[in-house]
Amino acid sequence: MKNNDRIVLTNKIIPSSIEDEVRIALSHYPELIDTPIEFKFKKNIKKSFMQAQPKFSSLFRKRKNRSYFVYISERLHIEHEEFGVEDIPKDVLIGWIGHELGHIMDYRDRKGFNMLVFGVKYIFSKRYIREAERAADTYAVNHGMGEYILATKDFILNHAHLSEVYKGRIKRLYLSPEEIVELVEELE
Ligand SMILES: [Zn+2]
Repeated sequence: MKNNDRIVLTNKIIPSSIEDEVRIALSHYPELIDTPIEFKFKKNIKKSFMQAQPKFSSLFRKRKNRSYFVYISERLHIEHEEFGVEDIPKDVLIGWIGHELGHIMDYRDRKGFNMLVFGVKYIFSKRYIREAERAADTYAVNHGMGEYILATKDFILNHAHLSEVYKGRIKRLYLSPEEIVELVEELE
């Protein structure tokens, strides 16, 4: 449902400060047009900048009626550095949102009970985290967001002063820039 290049948003709640970025990311996911998603700033999110999750109250509804949160931290902490949303380049933000929408695509296919099991495994298993993060990246790339995902990765990996520990974590859990380029080439 495109109208003068702006998507018509149904069932979305978006803070105005990131509205443009969210709209661009959403335009890559026509499947999510009716899915209720609330984008919401949060004071602090453990270990990440954004986090997508189903609203608990909707977990046992029919999958097509399930609703989701995408939480966004007011500040991005990478090691000892701190950024506000306004300090982050637009493309990087769009890539980040695209990655979270990839998680929602993944969640859509899971039944309520399976979601709970998934949540627990995500908390306790490194292998599950890796699988889920790579699935989200892959969804985003397959939805034509490869360039944005690369921008996000670049921002994290090439930022000055980042410790090798942090970079190692990113490299272990997410698709590498090389893998993303390969995926994009396969699509072309
Ligand atoms: Zn993720």
